[in-house]
This record gives sequence, structure tokens and C-alpha cells, in this order.
Amino acid sequence: MIVLKTAEEIELIARASQIVAEAHQVLIRAVKPGVTTLALDRLAEEYIRDHGAIPAFKGYRGFPYTLCASVNEQVVHGIPSERVLREGDIIGLDLGAIVEGFYGDGAITVAVGDVSQEVERLMTVTKEALAKGIEQAVVGNRLSDISHAIQAYVESAGYSVVRDFVGHGIGRQLHEEPQVPNYGRPGQGPRLKAGMVLAIEPMVNMGSYGVRVLNDGWTAVTTDGSLSAHFEHTIAIQACGAPLVLTDLSKGVAVQ
Ligand code: MG
Repeated sequence: MIVLKTAEEIELIARASQIVAEAHQVLIRAVKPGVTTLALDRLAEEYIRDHGAIPAFKGYRGFPYTLCASVNEQVVHGIPSERVLREGDIIGLDLGAIVEGFYGDGAITVAVGDVSQEVERLMTVTKEALAKGIEQAVVGNRLSDISHAIQAYVESAGYSVVRDFVGHGIGRQLHEEPQVPNYGRPGQGPRLKAGMVLAIEPMVNMGSYGVRVLNDGWTAVTTDGSLSAHFEHTIAIQACGAPLVLTDLSKGVAVQ
């Protein structure tokens, strides 16, 4: 069942989402050659806790850290470690926060120092694909209109969308119904309604869409070793017009 959220509930999800967006800003400033992914995790946890929230991922199904740090061919769910970032890497920074029992979830992918134009393009296309999906998150559309818009955009750019991981509803739980795939035919699935809150999160591979999970039980990598990028926003569908992008720093609710 898809749980519709009240305005008050969306306000709490927005507060959690703003902390996620702000923590991303802290991490963007910290990402540079020589930094470990564990150091980034500590910064993220400190920021979330200092702002009265709880890290959403830490302990979730046994995940040991606040941040999912996924480098290069790692798609999602990379475990922070003593791995040192190098010039030319890209890193996916996925994190969540809980405020008064409500979750916010977001991800960005950033370059470590300078990367090639080709790698910049992968990140740009992934971010734009997320925007294309969000555009479809309006009352009257069906769920797979989001999925289709993402897939069509990514594939027109010559990349592939990951099938094995999907976006999700979010609210009192990190992962609620519905699942939000990043591929599919348009016009399928439930009709979108005001009060639905979704985490939309395309994962885009430069090569083929196949992924596998490493022996650590978490880290998903591309099977062909190609680079992968990931962007995610938590959004709320409104009665009229475009959705509220709750993890967008420029549009959300001010946080103390
Ligand atoms: Mg998510």
C-alpha cells in the first residue's frame, strides 16, 4: 500500500531532506585527492547528529555507516573504508537522515579533482535523467512515466540504467511502496497522487546495465567494470504542478 502523507508529515520529511542536502554540501567541500571515504562518513554523521537528526543508513539491515560511498565502478552501497580518493575518481555519496521519525534520502556523484569530459558527461546525464523523472512526478501520470522518462533520456545519451536497484516511497520508513524503477514502458503502475513522497534515484552505467554485489554483501559494482553515477532526490507530489524537491537545497525548508 502506498501511504499518502499529510502536509505536516511532508514538513518533517522536508526537514530530514534538508539535512541530507546540507550534509552533501559539507561533503562536496571535503572531497579531494588524499581523503578517505571513512573520513567523509565521519563528516556526514557529525553533520547529521549536530543538527538533531539520526543517520538513516547506520544499522539499516546491518549497514555499518552513515554514508554509502561508491567509487568509480561501484554503483551503490559502497562501504566507507580507509580507501584513499585519487585525482580522477568519481564518488557517489548517498545518505539519509531521520527527523522525528521521518526519513529523507538523497545522493549525488562528484568528481575527485579533475576528470575527463567523458566522465563529466556521465555525471551530467545522470543528474539530468533524475530531473526528467521528477518532471513526470505529477498528479494524473502513472508511476512508470517517471521510469520511462529516465530510461529514455539515459539511453538516448548512449548509457544504460541499472535494473537491479530502484527508487522507492519514503516516509516513516526508508523504503516504502511503491518501488520506482528507472526503466519501463510509460503508462503503467499506480496513478500518482498528491501526498505521495518518492525517492527517485537513477543509477547510470557508462557500459552495460549489469551489476553484481561484492563479497562484503553490500557493494554493488558494474559487471563490465565501467563507471557508474547515481543521483537521488526525495520529492513530494503536489495537488497542482511540479513536485516539491525536498532534498534540493535551494527549494526546501530552512534548517537551523
Ligand atoms: Mg534511496
